[in-house]
Amino acid sequence: MNLYPLGLRLDGRRVLVVGGGTVATRRVPALLDAGADVLVVAPRLTPALHGLADAGRLRWRARRFEPADLEGAWLVQVAVDDPTAAAEVSAAAEPRRIFCVRADDRTEASAWTPAVTRHGPVTVAVLGGGDPQRAVRVRDAIAARLADRSIPVAAPPTAGGAAADTAGPAADAANPGTGRVILIGAGPGDPELITVKGRRLLAEADVVVTDRLVPGLLLDELAADVELIDAAKIPYGPAAAQEEINRILVDRAVAGATVVRLKGGDPYVFGRGGEELQACLAAGLPVSVVPGVTSSIAAPAAADIPVTHRGIAHEFTVVSGHLPPGHPQSLVDWSALARLRGTLVIMMGLKNLPTIAAVLLAGGRAADTPAAVVQEATTGAQRRVTATLGAVADVVATEGLRPPAVVVVGDVVGVLEPISG
Ligand code: SAH
Repeated sequence: MNLYPLGLRLDGRRVLVVGGGTVATRRVPALLDAGADVLVVAPRLTPALHGLADAGRLRWRARRFEPADLEGAWLVQVAVDDPTAAAEVSAAAEPRRIFCVRADDRTEASAWTPAVTRHGPVTVAVLGGGDPQRAVRVRDAIAARLADRSIPVAAPPTAGGAAADTAGPAADAANPGTGRVILIGAGPGDPELITVKGRRLLAEADVVVTDRLVPGLLLDELAADVELIDAAKIPYGPAAAQEEINRILVDRAVAGATVVRLKGGDPYVFGRGGEELQACLAAGLPVSVVPGVTSSIAAPAAADIPVTHRGIAHEFTVVSGHLPPGHPQSLVDWSALARLRGTLVIMMGLKNLPTIAAVLLAGGRAADTPAAVVQEATTGAQRRVTATLGAVADVVATEGLRPPAVVVVGDVVGVLEPISG
């Protein structure tokens, strides 16, 4: 018997799920993702399904199945182990011509669910001809091929509409024939800490504009015909260089390219991503943002410092130290930060650390407050040095620590250290 594959458009259509256990818990999210009007019939629900019911994402009839539950359904998923109960659902679905998927016995089902892998707009569904293990093996192989970025899966921008992955404020501004700009956070340093979406969209770039802090291995994977522009090498002062970067992004996209602006960490955490987005919007270009794993949280985490910890810190504050306290252009109220009890994460702060530490001490933070410096976090060169707030600036100098590094101040430093003695 040969199968006939279909993509069901379930948006707003009723799907009945019989059973509220682990199988149903695994099946329901994809149904909701497809927009289905999900009705679950089961005496009890798992906590996850209960949460969805409480949130109004699905409807729940708290009892056993009755044939009338099939009323209005286009599809039924039987997620119960008991073959007698499952057969009862099949028997009621068949004369009503409602396709029935069975978790307990696929040979009794009128429809089979494939093994699935999703890559942006593309869904690959594999049916194993009666052998689910084979379907999973083939699916895994295809997923690995798609993830290795050799196969672009996005549709080109369609006339009159935005590209499939273009979201956000400018999505409606897509002009046919023009390219687009995607701001992607590359993560803190380990090339595996880019997001799945960031990696997929990076593989679609015609032009990649990078930064000093972008993991080199990500660039190493780009196809040979991708134009790579190193923004760190633009030979102007910072303000003019930013204008030049904006101009490159806009010019290349207007010429039709898919332009990826790849930035260390998250694009909007001291990354000037906002200015680049504004420049693209002003040019009427479709532009979207893929958030990244920011070093302000990832660098402490990689050095075993949780930025919050129960009973220790109920807040963490991320601050730039690139201007010294008291600088006329500084927007930071350092004396207010000195009065906080929680965790302080200082970015770009090594050069000004002596002044910063002095201001925090003068403002009331105790000199014995634990402090740590994490350099080149999540890379093979990661270093962590621990001190106290009173001593940290000297330790940075004597240990020869250098950027990129974050300074963490607060009792969370050391909270995960094994207690010795
Ligand atoms: N957008 C980036 C931050 C850019 S500002 C992000 O979200 O991570 C640059 C500062 O980030 C550096 O001076 C340093 O303080 C910090 N930084 C970036 N990468 C780092 C890393 N791997 N280890 C430690 N600090 C890092």
